[in-house]
Amino acid sequence: MKAILPLLLLVITGAAFSQALKPNPARNNNPYYSNTDTTKLKVSNAVWKKILPPDLYHVAREQGTERAFTGQYWNIDIRGTYFCAVCGNRLFRSDAKFASNCGWPSFFEPARKNSVWYREDLSHGMQRVEVLCSRCDSHLGHVFNDGPAPTYKRYCMNSVSLDFVPDELGKK
Ligand code: FE
Repeated sequence: MKAILPLLLLVITGAAFSQALKPNPARNNNPYYSNTDTTKLKVSNAVWKKILPPDLYHVAREQGTERAFTGQYWNIDIRGTYFCAVCGNRLFRSDAKFASNCGWPSFFEPARKNSVWYREDLSHGMQRVEVLCSRCDSHLGHVFNDGPAPTYKRYCMNSVSLDFVPDELGKK
């Protein structure tokens, strides 16, 4: 019994925590959203603007950045999968997430090599590598070379661009 109690507490706390996470509002009324369809999307920003919440539209379609430490995923440590909040494309597994303390959710590798694509970003007087969703071309964040082993990469993502599904909810 002594050994079971801490385990039970852990499960209850974990369940309460995942319920506290807000579901991605873009899933509703979004005919393009799918966690299984990997067909490339060609959707104009005028159409996305009608579908996406304003904060997601700004980050995903206008290369915006959410304020550090304000997103809902930067400090969570729950087993699950992170999908693109715009189109549902599978992007990251929680196994590759690490505590970078930079204020944005950080990963050392994507779920699949072709989950994302990259382009040089010279905006704001910096030289950075932008990370975009391979299915819908939405802006996700940037990748830096100061991450942990085994890749030494830090995929610094906007929480608002991600849609997290805990493992226990995914097994329906
Ligand atoms: Fe996407």
